[in-house]
Amino acid sequence: MSEVVSIYETNMLNIFRCEFEDGTVRLCTKNLSPGHNVYGERLIRYNKIEYREWNAFRSKLAGAIMKGLKESPLSVGSRVLYLGAASGTTVSHVSDIVEASGKVYAVEFSPRVVRELIMVAQRRPNVITILADARFPQRFRTLVEAVDVLYVDIAQPDQAEIASYNASLYLKKEGHLLLAIKARSIDVTKEPEEIYKREVEKLSSNGFDVRQVVNLDPYDKDHVMVLAKYEG
Ligand code: SAM
Repeated sequence: MSEVVSIYETNMLNIFRCEFEDGTVRLCTKNLSPGHNVYGERLIRYNKIEYREWNAFRSKLAGAIMKGLKESPLSVGSRVLYLGAASGTTVSHVSDIVEASGKVYAVEFSPRVVRELIMVAQRRPNVITILADARFPQRFRTLVEAVDVLYVDIAQPDQAEIASYNASLYLKKEGHLLLAIKARSIDVTKEPEEIYKREVEKLSSNGFDVRQVVNLDPYDKDHVMVLAKYEG
């Protein structure tokens, strides 16, 4: 396996680029849980710090960054409501980025994958696992505080509405939304571009200022990541 030659921070806080001997460049984050990986990713020690490789084929946020996302709304100490946490692949990197002073409220409705998510959260005190349906956000109101970032990756046809409803309850004014859109989950009969346009319009009419729409191909085909600011 090729050796690491350098690691440097990108223009996004706590998100790093790792250069290998063979010239390849990958993203990585500083491991909040040293010695442990989450989904088989490589652990890299460099200048006495342990990093985890962040696979853009496994995580849409990494794919969006590789494809030119201009700004990251995540900072040290951010509060994040994450809908569609699955087994915690992307959650774990968000947890690295916001560090121990941040919080990731990780909502997932499949009991099978929640079991794996709990294993991830056991080693990461800033991850709070919530077994719940994102369609009914009032059911987790005793567990979640106001958040700086709402991350939505639930692959549901009405996810723009679900995102907007959750934002109205939990997202701070001027907070940010990251929404992954999978065209085929919304309408298989329509062209992906038409679907993205319609979903973006829904967000705009629900108080979001859409900043960027990043096409995730080749990491995820027929997917985009939308970055928007919440005006309330
Ligand atoms: N975000 C994950 C990552 O990058 O590691 C992958 C998420 S996967 C594409 C979508 C997940 O959303 C699935 O685990 C699914 O069970 C979950 N999901 C779908 N609808 C949901 C809902 N209404 N409430 C909570 N979770 C939901």
